[in-house]
Amino acid sequence: MTDAAELTDEQFYEQLQTFVGLEVGPPKPGPDEVNAPMIRHLVETLGDTNPIYVDEAAGAASIHGHLVAPPTMLQAWVMTGIEGPSRGGDGPYERMNELLFSRGFTSVVATNSEQTYLRYLRPGDRITMKVVIDSISPQKHTGLGTGHFVTTRQDYYDADGELVGQMLFRIIRFKPAAKQPAPAKRPPRPGPALTRDNAFWFEAIEDDRLVIQRCAECSTLRNPPGPMCPRCNSLRWDTVDATGTGRIHSFVVVHYPQVPSFEYPLPVALVDLTGPGEDGIRMIMNTAGVAHDQIRIGQDVTIEIRQADETMKLPFAVIAEAGA
Ligand code: ZN
Repeated sequence: MTDAAELTDEQFYEQLQTFVGLEVGPPKPGPDEVNAPMIRHLVETLGDTNPIYVDEAAGAASIHGHLVAPPTMLQAWVMTGIEGPSRGGDGPYERMNELLFSRGFTSVVATNSEQTYLRYLRPGDRITMKVVIDSISPQKHTGLGTGHFVTTRQDYYDADGELVGQMLFRIIRFKPAAKQPAPAKRPPRPGPALTRDNAFWFEAIEDDRLVIQRCAECSTLRNPPGPMCPRCNSLRWDTVDATGTGRIHSFVVVHYPQVPSFEYPLPVALVDLTGPGEDGIRMIMNTAGVAHDQIRIGQDVTIEIRQADETMKLPFAVIAEAGA
């Protein structure tokens, strides 16, 4: 193999393409068959109360005729634990990575994942996964740096060899962009991905109102916004104004990757709303009032709608300084 550093971009891309279609290691059987305890733990954690996952009688009466696993558990059935097989080796995936590393594409960020469910799994199913390098993009320029998108495809088979589901998993392997001097003027934040389901919330924010979606049938509050009430399945909804008080449920402080629209370190908080009737409603927002290293789980906050930049208003969890 020629030294990758000496290749043109086109020649390098051609070398990368030789990995497309290769299987990444031998088929990997799941450590356990699809089983009721794991299903129960997951749906309890998610708060999914659909009885076809946990109640034998409800499963039997359903269109399936038996208990089924939530489709989104697909990947869980082949996951090994923390003590699973060690990484590394010299398979196609590792060799592809070495080629990318040799050209300076040493950083990685997962970008997106798409799952396809071909049939519901049921307790007793034995799932095996095959992984194939599905595609590698030409060199792309992104906000993070220049690199190649690498998509792997995971094919999930049952004990009869029937394909039951697939997952496309995409990462970008990139050269970290040279650290830019801070721009004289911070560019505006990337806007939210507005949909018919969530636009009302951002419109209310522009109107200086923090609202919570409410089911018009059973009055259950919900957030994040969605088209259907998880309690009674009604599609009718309205909103109520939030009280504007909350408590830090959890938070992260983002250091990297840095996007010029934001100031770093960037704290992002998950806030439990604490107004009357707002139990269980959480929202993600930036913080204000104290430095990032003064934020603690359990701190009370006042939620204020502020101008996040010249293009957008957002709610901020304002934390009072200790002793203030
Ligand atoms: Zn409802």
